[in-house]
Amino acid sequence: MYKNLPRMHSIVLATLLLAVSSDSLAQTHIIHAGRLIEPVTGRVLERQTILVKDGLIVSVAPTRPNDAPNASTVTDLSLYTVMPGFIDAHTHLTIDEKSQDPLSELQHTAAQRAYSAIPNARAVLMAGFTTVRDLGSYRALVDVALRDAINQGDVVGPRMLVAGAYITMTGGSGSVSGFAPDVTLPWDLRFGTANSPTEVRERVRALVSQRVDVIKVFATGAVLTHNSNPLAREATPEELVAAVDEARNFGLKVAAHAHNAEGIKNAVRAGVASIEHGSLLDDEGRALMKEHGTYLVPTLEVHDCIGSNYPDEFIQKSRALRVAQAENFHKAVLAGVKIAFGTDIGVCPFGQNPLEFAHMVKNGMTPMQAIQSATVNGADLLGLSARVGSLEPGKAADIIAVRTDPLKDIHALEHVSFVMKQGVVYRHD
Ligand SMILES: [Zn+2]
Repeated sequence: MYKNLPRMHSIVLATLLLAVSSDSLAQTHIIHAGRLIEPVTGRVLERQTILVKDGLIVSVAPTRPNDAPNASTVTDLSLYTVMPGFIDAHTHLTIDEKSQDPLSELQHTAAQRAYSAIPNARAVLMAGFTTVRDLGSYRALVDVALRDAINQGDVVGPRMLVAGAYITMTGGSGSVSGFAPDVTLPWDLRFGTANSPTEVRERVRALVSQRVDVIKVFATGAVLTHNSNPLAREATPEELVAAVDEARNFGLKVAAHAHNAEGIKNAVRAGVASIEHGSLLDDEGRALMKEHGTYLVPTLEVHDCIGSNYPDEFIQKSRALRVAQAENFHKAVLAGVKIAFGTDIGVCPFGQNPLEFAHMVKNGMTPMQAIQSATVNGADLLGLSARVGSLEPGKAADIIAVRTDPLKDIHALEHVSFVMKQGVVYRHD
């Protein structure tokens, strides 16, 4: 009997929380913000009141005394800095952060990957990330299932855009490799394999039919793949053009993993929406990205997490790229290349997404620019500007708060105290 008490207690608590959450969706909710960051204009407003109803922002206006129409729930964040929920444009919520070798995919079923992603999704939301673009799952379509479970309210997590699988050449950087050649992979560990423009189109169509939101292609080799060279081109220019054309036909954008300069430029010329990592971006590549309006998603923090638990091959490749990647990111900031926040989370532990902000500031961004990269810019890259990325009437009530001023110390963003997604409060410390 006594043994069951803590468990019963948590069930009661969970039920109460659920009741509060669904109430707040139906009712109006008032948030008094001490300071409010407006990423669209880069302004900071003092003492603002946000009115939320049915999951959407109704108004944002200066706080007036006794401001609580037909009161609803009131949340006092007058000692906090409030801003839109963050967007991480490069996550892998279905990666197992504890087994950092793609070969571990052979030891886990798709069901195991799906269940182990549940705490990952929660941790990322609790860190203040209300929207993510999840750029690939080794086990194809596990991310689609996770997105749907979150949308149905079965799992707590951020709003997800998902890629479904990696479009990659045989043995390429998006594949599970490094096993004996007489091993045949199951269908869902090779779902995105394509070796010609025709096959790329066919794979994009297969992914579209499985309701993915974005297409992820590999223009060059990778750090975290066996026998893959980040300095080598992988997808050909023709394959990249095929991916972009076919995706565009279905209203989807393409994200291109690319480290070397040639692969980056091939992808930009093909019309991808974003270059992921962009480690060896050169002057010509920067100019091309500006000309095409291509986003750079830098993922700087990953190198901190590629340690002794990784295969030695991965550690060596990470060491060879990290300094150049940070320097070329800095040059991209100075050149005015569009930048969207992305972490590659799954390499670093889930929930450590905000550590990327300090890397961005250390390498040339102002704190406001870093916040803009994770809000208004992320929304633009994801094609969600009408719904998220700023606190304006009609947009989703995705609202977060921190206790200290992130414009004075960017590390403030590593301690998010309040998280609301679509009008529902998930965190209030
Ligand atoms: Zn990635």
